[in-house]
Amino acid sequence: MDYYKSPTKDMMFLLDVFDYESRVSTLEAFADYDKDMVGAILDTASAVCIDKLLPLNSVGDAEGLKWDPETGDVTTPEGFKGAYATLVENGLLGVTCTPEYGGMGGPEVLGIYSSEIMIATNKSFSMCPGLSRGLIDALAAHGSDEQKEFYLPKLISGEWSGTMCLTEPQCGTDLGLIRTKAIPQDDGSYKLTGTKIWITFGEHDLAENIIHLVLARLPDAPEGIKGISAFIVPKKIDGELNNVKCTGLEHKMGIKASPTCVIDMEDSTGFLVGTPHKGMRSMFVMMNAARLHVGVEGIALGSIAYQTALAFAKDRRQMRAIDPAKQDQNAAADNILVHPDVRRMLLNVKATTEGLRALGAWISMEYDVAHHHPDADTRKAADDIVALLTPVIKSYGSEQGFLNISEAMQVCGGAGYTTDWNIEQYMRDERIALIYEGTNHIQALDLVGRKLRIDSGRLLRTFQGRISELIVESKDDERMAEFLTPLKTISKKLVGATMEMGGAAMEDPEVVGAVASPYLNLFAMCALTYVWAKQAHYVLNNDVPFGETKLKTARYFNTKILPQAETLIATIATGKSNIMDFDIEELEVI
Ligand SMILES: Cc1cc2nc3c(=O)[nH]c(=O)nc-3n(C[C@H](O)[C@H](O)[C@H](O)COP(=O)(O)OP(=O)(O)OC[C@H]3O[C@@H](n4cnc5c(N)ncnc54)[C@H](O)[C@@H]3O)c2cc1C
Repeated sequence: MDYYKSPTKDMMFLLDVFDYESRVSTLEAFADYDKDMVGAILDTASAVCIDKLLPLNSVGDAEGLKWDPETGDVTTPEGFKGAYATLVENGLLGVTCTPEYGGMGGPEVLGIYSSEIMIATNKSFSMCPGLSRGLIDALAAHGSDEQKEFYLPKLISGEWSGTMCLTEPQCGTDLGLIRTKAIPQDDGSYKLTGTKIWITFGEHDLAENIIHLVLARLPDAPEGIKGISAFIVPKKIDGELNNVKCTGLEHKMGIKASPTCVIDMEDSTGFLVGTPHKGMRSMFVMMNAARLHVGVEGIALGSIAYQTALAFAKDRRQMRAIDPAKQDQNAAADNILVHPDVRRMLLNVKATTEGLRALGAWISMEYDVAHHHPDADTRKAADDIVALLTPVIKSYGSEQGFLNISEAMQVCGGAGYTTDWNIEQYMRDERIALIYEGTNHIQALDLVGRKLRIDSGRLLRTFQGRISELIVESKDDERMAEFLTPLKTISKKLVGATMEMGGAAMEDPEVVGAVASPYLNLFAMCALTYVWAKQAHYVLNNDVPFGETKLKTARYFNTKILPQAETLIATIATGKSNIMDFDIEELEVI
């Protein structure tokens, strides 16, 4: 059973919290996108996704994909083709893409919201447009004018779809090990030969053509990551097959309707994107937007799992309420919502899911400012926030999303573990989000090893600046004290842990590897405390119909979830001790 109501009220509320009207819809690029317009598009996206994608979610999971070993063709589950056509018809695949090539030119926050709705209703399906979007971004940033004109209109309309071909059998995280070769041809094209694995929607029957963005090495490439170039390798050129064959499909835990393909290329024609040996630049454009959307996967599936658990709980009676006054004398047992622990579980999911949605809304609005504001300093500050918080939302969003689905399952008891309530599917579908687009630990290394070091901590200072602005703005409002005090404390502790980690790492770089993951979660705690304080501030100064509930949820976060930060701080303080003390032989089973 699927229970899903699109959380558009919360989404619209968050536009107000983060000043959408004055910060984003005033930008020239989004002149047509006032709040009403965003709301109208979200309503259409919700209606189409709930009507067309949601009913196919468990169908796709049960039916899976068919692969023809002769031709390499992949057939998607019954109904997927029709649903894809409906989304194309409604223009829902190019919501944020540039109007120059046929997109709707909407703001990223609208993209993030539509993505959440599409993922919640059918994560497997959503991965096809998700990958196309990454390719569109990469080509828009690094493709030649001819490439843009030729590929973007068809990718944006959905007539063609895109992939991202990085992984090979011997290289996942370490892309410097890529072996796929690209040999220059007299006509300016290249012949590519190699095997890529785990390529999402590498082959399927939804679109007429598939455009692969492939990382490969030129004959004169320097060793390692500095010798990687990016190529467009279409499945078909002028209607003719280009020797790009799907030679196998992975059997996997979840996202069973999303084809994860082995893609073989042999003298397949490709076209260079950008500069030789600088292919990682194109990939990073693709990966950054994708990482934000992977964080949203945890929000989306956490949200549908929560709604399912709540629907179950409302109907389920077991045992008696602890408080006799809450016992229903007309029934043999009470509804499980009277039990504090059932509420605790639901509120854990609600507080973190809504907190993460707020974080996603904030980052995506900063993304819009970073890309379209006329003032360079404003763009830079906004970009700092996006760069700093993208690994945080990818990693914490996916991990907490997974834990939230597990918590929702627990609310349903044994029923949650059966296939009847679909929560087990959401859990299987979400698990991969901790692994792909760079594993969560790689996100932590990106945060600690790269983002914090830029300009001796400029990004962290920008983030702290936003916190200070809120504190200054609301310091005279006594009602805000209960939200500002935890914010001040966690932000001070985050800075303290950062300094301590930095000092320890100077003496021993292995410390960073040992503490980066708990440090990222500590960062997430601080970011979520901030977005909850922002929501509280808005509610206290405006008339919001569900304002009281928002304040209670903020209090729940601060008192029941934020204390986890103390454990993280204690873990970070012990550095690499009791990790690297073990000899590798001691990891053997005793
Ligand atoms: C369903 C699915 C879909 C996918 N889709 C795509 C796709 O469309 N395109 C594509 O190119 N790839 C895709 N991938 C591949 C995915 O991006 C990789 O699985 C991921 O990057 C991790 O690489 P790996 O699996 O080889 O793990 P490995 O790199 O072998 O890592 C194994 C473990 O070692 C850790 N590790 C590695 N290096 C370090 C380090 N320096 N410090 C600390 N720990 C480290 C990792 O965090 C991980 O825990 C997909 C994978 C799956 C399963």
